[in-house]
Amino acid sequence: MRKIVIAGNWKMYKTQAETQEFLRGFLPHLEETPQGREVILCPPFTDLSVLSKTLHGSLIQLGAQNIHWEEYGAYTGEISGPMLTESGVRFVIVGHSERRQYFGETDATVNLRLRTAQRFGLTPILCVGETKQQRDAGETESLIALQLDKGLVDIDQNNLVIAYEPIWAIGTGETCEAVEANRIIGLIRSQLSNPNVSIQYGGSVKPNNIDEIMAQPEIDGVLVGGASLEPESFARIVNFK
Ligand code: PGA
Repeated sequence: MRKIVIAGNWKMYKTQAETQEFLRGFLPHLEETPQGREVILCPPFTDLSVLSKTLHGSLIQLGAQNIHWEEYGAYTGEISGPMLTESGVRFVIVGHSERRQYFGETDATVNLRLRTAQRFGLTPILCVGETKQQRDAGETESLIALQLDKGLVDIDQNNLVIAYEPIWAIGTGETCEAVEANRIIGLIRSQLSNPNVSIQYGGSVKPNNIDEIMAQPEIDGVLVGGASLEPESFARIVNFK
């Protein structure tokens, strides 16, 4: 019932020329991808139009890294739902820890962005996760429960993906043990009204740990940063065993 969802979060990397270069290396590998896997690329906004033209008809879906809660308005630097859907976007990452940490995103603004994504027919990928300090203090479970509690107010769980991303594992090469990620994701699932929501793990996912991560029963996919920038690495992840 639960879908396998593998998403690449390119963050603030890749010009349009670099995107085309990536696709030349990556697209041929999709021929080996087993059916039924949802593969999503979340590039910077400036790459969306290039990608939506090139990807048309391919297995890959387009995702964005942010969405504002208003349809339009004086919000310098933000982007709206209609702008994303017009560019062929189907998914949007909301509440990534980098947005929470550097751009003042709170559980309340996360909730607004999630609602707006759904209002415009997009599937949001809600990111939750704890810092090292919170983990060491034994606060992981309560923190995540709070992020879900506040983030999911009035959200349709039939159109939602969740990503568990321990912040200490993001971009550090320090992966959360697969069994521990599985445990936390099980806890997240127990807090949902819809048990069929796909829940991803994110944080230093690489070709050498993808098979172990995906072997865990609660883990439905991965949100990949660094390793999604390189065609061979991302192909190995998408085509996990
Ligand atoms: P990473 O990033 O794979 O480079 O650790 C994951 C993320 O930030 O989504």
